[in-house]
Amino acid sequence: MRNVPEPNYEYDIQRLVSVYKRGITGILAELNRLDLTDLQRAQILAALKNISDILRGINDESTQWVNEVIPKAISDGIASTIVALGVADTLEQAQKIVKFNRANKALAEAVIADTQSDLLAVTQNIDRRVRATVRQVAAESMRANYAKGINGRKAISRDILTGLREKLGTSVNTGIIDAAGRRWKPEVYVDMLVRTKTMSAHLDATINEAVAREAYYGRISSHGATDACRNYEGKIVKLVPDAPGDYPYIGDLRGGRDIFHPNCKHTVTPTRLPDGI
Ligand SMILES: [Zn+2]
Repeated sequence: MRNVPEPNYEYDIQRLVSVYKRGITGILAELNRLDLTDLQRAQILAALKNISDILRGINDESTQWVNEVIPKAISDGIASTIVALGVADTLEQAQKIVKFNRANKALAEAVIADTQSDLLAVTQNIDRRVRATVRQVAAESMRANYAKGINGRKAISRDILTGLREKLGTSVNTGIIDAAGRRWKPEVYVDMLVRTKTMSAHLDATINEAVAREAYYGRISSHGATDACRNYEGKIVKLVPDAPGDYPYIGDLRGGRDIFHPNCKHTVTPTRLPDGI
């Protein structure tokens, strides 16, 4: 059985993450520019408009990214299967004969739609939190302005200003809460999300192509993992549940905590004969 190089989307992932980082820096700059000692409605509206523009820019770039990188991950999965099964000798040759079969066309469509909507949820979340926090901070700043006369002060106290600034910053930087209730910085969440989506698209494409070529087994890759994945490195799995032989079915391993977890780098090299490995 041949080993094919593990997919690596580091460059693409960093490119997308930097879009979010730049956007968030821009949003923070807009929020920092607000004069909290004398917050005017027009100023708030202008800032929120600029923030919306920044978020729309992020959405446009994410859409392009997903349309380009997800099909590439699927195509890579198909190409590496073609090499693993000996249909082509090199990945370059394999890339030339890659064709998306029906299952892989459907896969591409589903993963693109899914990733788009997950990424859209990130910017929607930032938008909602920033708006709510700006409103809250505006109300607090106004109250503090009324109250300052009571103490004979001329301005809002430094403590209050610092607290309001912090609130604005936090609204952007801890805005994502996942299904398990964990808080994420948006760029860390996006990194995890697209890393997981590209790897899982690659794996699904591999399985689809392998099964279409009547290869029903695969070997899990090895890179010296130290987490729970280490127990699975080099192991043979079934790609379809009813293939003969006493091997775990890959579908039962996925989505669990042990292997093929978020951020997991493991792949599968397909083979027709589990004994021939
Ligand atoms: Zn792993």
